[in-house]
Amino acid sequence: MSLFDLTGKVAIVTGGNGGIGLGMAQGLAGAGARVVLSGRDAAKAQTALSRLGPDAAFIAADVTKGAACRELVAETLARFGRLDILVNNAGTSIRKMPQDFTEAEWHHVLDTNLTGAFLCSQAAYPAMQAAGGGKMINIGSMMTLFGAPYATPYAASKGGIVQMSRALATAWAKDNIQVNAVLPGWIDTDLTRTARRQVEGLHDRVAARTPAGRWGVPEDLAGVAVFLAGRGSDFVTGTAIPVDGGYSIAT
Ligand code: NDP
Repeated sequence: MSLFDLTGKVAIVTGGNGGIGLGMAQGLAGAGARVVLSGRDAAKAQTALSRLGPDAAFIAADVTKGAACRELVAETLARFGRLDILVNNAGTSIRKMPQDFTEAEWHHVLDTNLTGAFLCSQAAYPAMQAAGGGKMINIGSMMTLFGAPYATPYAASKGGIVQMSRALATAWAKDNIQVNAVLPGWIDTDLTRTARRQVEGLHDRVAARTPAGRWGVPEDLAGVAVFLAGRGSDFVTGTAIPVDGGYSIAT
C-alpha cells in the first residue's frame, strides 16, 4: 500500500471552506480520504464542496465553542463512522499596533486560532484513541517564528500552536496519535488579501524576500497535508514544517 494512500480515512478540516484549508482538503480528498469541511459560512462551503466530489460534506461549527467542536466530531462519527485526521486550520487576524487592541479583540484572535485548535483536538481524541491512532495537523505561520508590529495576538496564537502541538504529541504518542504543525509562508487567500490592503508594500516585500520568488497558493499546502495524514509520517510527531518557498531561511 502506498505511504500516501488515504483510502478509507475520514478527515475534518476546520476552516476548510476556503483558502489554505480547502487546499489541504483537496490534497486529502485526492489521496482518497472522505473530507468534512467545517467553518461558519455555509454558503462559502458550497463552492468548496463542488471541488471535492460526492464523498465530502460540510458541517458548520464555530471552533471558539467547545460544545460546537464536540458536536462537529459527533456528527462526523455519525455520518462517516470514524475519524482519522483532524486539520486545525480555522484562523483569523486583526491588524493593529499592540497598544490599540481591545481586550475583546485579543481574546477573539486567541480563541479562534489557539483555543479553537485545542478544543477540536480534545474533542477528536476519544475517537482516535479508541480506533488505535490518528493524525492531527495544526496550522502555525511565519508569525510562529518572526514578530511583526501589527500582529501581537496573531503571533502569540501561532507561537502557541507549535508549543501546544509538542505537548499534545508527547501526551498522545502512546495512543499512536501524531500531532504536527505546518507553518505556511505567505499564501494568497482572503486573509492575506485583507492584509495586503492594510499593510502598505506587503505584497512586494514578501515576493522579494521569498527565494521561490512568488506568493504561495493554497494548493502548495496539499502535499504536506497528505504526508502528515498518512502512514508515511507515523514516526514524525511534535514537529513544525515550514511550507514557505524558503521565506524562513532567507536573509
Ligand atoms: P481564510 O480567511 O481564507 O480562511 C480562514 C478560515 O477559517 C475560513 O474558512 C473561516 O471560515 C474559518 N474560520 C474563521 N473563524 C472561525 C471560527 N470561529 N470557527 C470556525 N471557522 C472559522 O484564511 P487562510 O486560508 O489564509 O487561513 C487559514 C489558516 O492558515 C489560518 O489559521 C491562518 O492563520 C493560517 N495562515 C495563513 C497564511 C496565509 O498567508 N494566508 C500564512 C500562515 C498561516 P468561516 O468564515 O466560514 O468561519
